[in-house]
Amino acid sequence: MTQMPLIFAAISDIAGKVRGKAFPADHLEKRLIRGVGWTPTNVQITCFDSIADSPFGALGDLLLIPDPEAAADVGFSQDCNEHFMLGDITTLDGDPWDLCTRSMLKAALKRLHDTAGVHLVSAFEHEFQLLAPPARDHQAYGREGFELQRVLCETLMAGLKTAGLDPDSIMKEYGPNQYEVVVGPVQGVRSADQAVILRELTRSAARSLGETATFSPIRDPASVGNGVHIHMSFVDEAGMPVTHDTAGPCGMSQITDAFSAGVLRYLPHIIALTAPSVISYVRLTPHRWSAAYNNLGFRDREAALRVCPVTAKDPASIARQFNIEYRAADAAASPYLALAAIVHAGAQGIEDGLKAPAPTEEDLSLLDTETLQSRGIVRLPETLEAALDAFEASATVTGWFPKDFATVYRAHKDAEIAHLADMDIAACCAAYEATY
Ligand code: GLU
Ligand code: MG
Repeated sequence: MTQMPLIFAAISDIAGKVRGKAFPADHLEKRLIRGVGWTPTNVQITCFDSIADSPFGALGDLLLIPDPEAAADVGFSQDCNEHFMLGDITTLDGDPWDLCTRSMLKAALKRLHDTAGVHLVSAFEHEFQLLAPPARDHQAYGREGFELQRVLCETLMAGLKTAGLDPDSIMKEYGPNQYEVVVGPVQGVRSADQAVILRELTRSAARSLGETATFSPIRDPASVGNGVHIHMSFVDEAGMPVTHDTAGPCGMSQITDAFSAGVLRYLPHIIALTAPSVISYVRLTPHRWSAAYNNLGFRDREAALRVCPVTAKDPASIARQFNIEYRAADAAASPYLALAAIVHAGAQGIEDGLKAPAPTEEDLSLLDTETLQSRGIVRLPETLEAALDAFEASATVTGWFPKDFATVYRAHKDAEIAHLADMDIAACCAAYEATY
């Protein structure tokens, strides 16, 4: 029997899961206008499929409108053809729904533009692991470790290119069966779309080759985590880079400086959105090259916010390549929500004229709380509960989002925490690696 080609209309929701509905491909024209029906309470489906307290109950109707600019149509193998289109959730009148993650990011990007006259350019760097035990041990950054999965790496990079991403590099990371994949930067919401597409295509490429990929924040507390590092720069209306200034601190322009200062000030309050799982806080501990403090680092891989090195030599290329990297994120977070939180924090820093602190150059875990405090540095929340408390405690931060968001988000995360209540850390890691 011939099959009917279907397109899956999808969103990456509060749980960081990609959900939606499929429709016949030849109905696309109609679906681009009418979308597919969606249910408000779906926002409270956790990453473990439990349903948190919902203000909507069984009531209400929404639309999920696919955006043809955010599509992936990739055939990995005969049984692994992907065709999906990310989109926005709207009311039946076509207004953005308050709890639509993609619309929240668009609002944050608009705020940045209104406040500073710049557009955000960003790139997500992802780490993932294959679930099966590695065929060879001791392959940190190894050539052999790479060769063992060369076919997967080449399949994935080809799939990313077919979907319109700009594959940059892929490598065997430090951890067992851990790989890192990097794509080139793009402007606006498209970058978060690409992060969602990359995660989905990575899982599909692995599946087409009989492997299973996980982006879970950490699989084994004794090992390293899977980070999501978000590289950011700014361009003006004419598309000219405005991130760098040779005379600025660490080479940062005034906008970059104030944006960074905002991110660092609000980091303890936004981390519940960028590292939103229970085990995210196992990853965010010192000496894992993740982020344990709200510090700025100059080329330092233990900094929450890092001023990255540039390899270009001529001034125009340096200006374009210069970027800052947010390292306290992971793939339990929807890229839309994580980036929205970071952009709002940065925009707040610009609006308040904040100045970034001096970069740290030492092991902060050796300093006492008073010394850290005197330099404006704090240990980031050490549990998801503490991170959620810090989020809810900041009226500034909750005020960046639509009215009901903070309450809905807390209820959602409380249900996720409740699901894990009787599990030890190994069981929690196993639960997360099965869902991300
Ligand atoms: N695996 C580290 C993390 O959890 C990052 C290692 C690196 O690429 O610097 O963020
Ligand atoms: Mg890495």
